[in-house]
Amino acid sequence: MTIIPTEWMPLVPMARIIGHWTAGNHKASDTDRRAYHVLVEGDGKVIRGVPSIDLNSGSIKSGYAAHTLNCNTNSIGVSMCGMAGAVEVPFSAGRAPLTQVQWNAFVQAVAALARRYGIPVTPKMILFHAEVQGTLGITQRNKWDVIRLPFDPSGTGAKAVGDKLRREVTKAMSGVNIAPPDPVPAGGVGRVIPPALNTRNGPNGEVTGALREGTRVEIIGQNGNWLNIETPAGFSVWAHRDFIEVVDGPPALEPTKPDPRRAIIDRIRRDLDELETMGA
Ligand SMILES: [Zn+2]
Repeated sequence: MTIIPTEWMPLVPMARIIGHWTAGNHKASDTDRRAYHVLVEGDGKVIRGVPSIDLNSGSIKSGYAAHTLNCNTNSIGVSMCGMAGAVEVPFSAGRAPLTQVQWNAFVQAVAALARRYGIPVTPKMILFHAEVQGTLGITQRNKWDVIRLPFDPSGTGAKAVGDKLRREVTKAMSGVNIAPPDPVPAGGVGRVIPPALNTRNGPNGEVTGALREGTRVEIIGQNGNWLNIETPAGFSVWAHRDFIEVVDGPPALEPTKPDPRRAIIDRIRRDLDELETMGA
């Protein structure tokens, strides 16, 4: 049972998940719902946004979710409803502070999306709006969602809160993915685990397409956590190793034929030993 209904998650290539707050109230307004694909209300209730995720896949389509300036293509926008009237310095959480129960549901929602779309938990692929400028180098207009969690003052700042999200999403996803051996045997056969696995043009690269669950691929190389795979159509692409189950090792080497000279040498040795014991 996933926190997000499957029909909210059409199978299209998506590259990353960007987390936000709405700067509104704890309930999602119509305006809030037009800006994001998925929203989490103050009590942890998950709400579907107006734009469907596929409107942000590939070339942007009319009615897409405009959640992150110049970074909406292939980006899923998930937002926590709240922080109306919040002030950054000196910090005030305003009229609708984010809540712990809301955060917990948000983590589950991000994990469900990451699993569905085969998005690895890396700082470039699962991040908050506040991290976009620093991590992806795409200028934003002083966005500070989310650099503070009103219910947990222990970590503040874009990186601290982003790392907390990635840690908790990783935990929420564990037990679902099958950890492949490391290094992954080149020449082996892998099987695609998620419903739609993003393929990329290099490690951490741009999304080039997606492979369906169960597709068999040939593993032709590895670079850290990224596997170079050959698709059934013969394309060489890259995918994160967490989403490929190794089902078959590399083809076995031909058993080496015994060297016929070996037997003769062994026989001569035995004969020499025999001569020695005869005291010849
Ligand atoms: Zn935002």
